Amino acid sequence: MSETSALSAVPAPPHRDAVLRFFHGPMDCGKSTLALQMNYNHGRQGRRGLVLTKHDRSGGPRVTSRIGLGLEAVEVVDGLDLVELVLAHAQVDYLICDEACFYTVAQIEQLADLVDGHGVDVYAFGLASDFRSQMFPAAQRLFELADEVSRLQVEVLCWCGRQGRLNARVVDGVMARTGEQVMIADTDGAQVHYRVLCRRHYRSGDLGESRSAPLAASSA
Ligand SMILES: [Zn+2]
Repeated sequence: MSETSALSAVPAPPHRDAVLRFFHGPMDCGKSTLALQMNYNHGRQGRRGLVLTKHDRSGGPRVTSRIGLGLEAVEVVDGLDLVELVLAHAQVDYLICDEACFYTVAQIEQLADLVDGHGVDVYAFGLASDFRSQMFPAAQRLFELADEVSRLQVEVLCWCGRQGRLNARVVDGVMARTGEQVMIADTDGAQVHYRVLCRRHYRSGDLGESRSAPLAASSA
């Protein structure tokens, strides 16, 4: 019996619809940590899920978080059909989709198909915008299709102390404004890396006092 049954001629659905949720935020705001926590919570309830990722910081088919958690995952290559992937498994109740901003738009459509056609809950995590502060195509499609969109507000601060909002690409110590949309930073202290900045310093291109050397405190 539903609360509206006495007031409405529309019958209550037999069970809740599956949901497509998108959690976005700048780099290092805890998206992968939340993805792993959500997988743990659902698994503990006896639900069966798959964990997907693309371009994880580990460089392999794993979801890893800055705080040291990690889990094996399916690497989402461009040609992978996510509906076929799910249907190849006996039962999938939910998907955890990390780094969903890097998926193709077609794969985002497949996620919606899984929600609406197969009752699979999809929890997608990713960046909203690239280093040019322009939206990733997959993120845009998630904004358009998701039942719920949440901005993650784990404290990630610009060097000035303001809230970090945008991802800057730094090439040889200088903020880049043009280039390929996806360029994975080399973790071995290479020429390309990313910094989270407030809007003010993103727009002015000011990387703060650490522009010539990494902050010792931030890497400790
Ligand atoms: Zn700032």
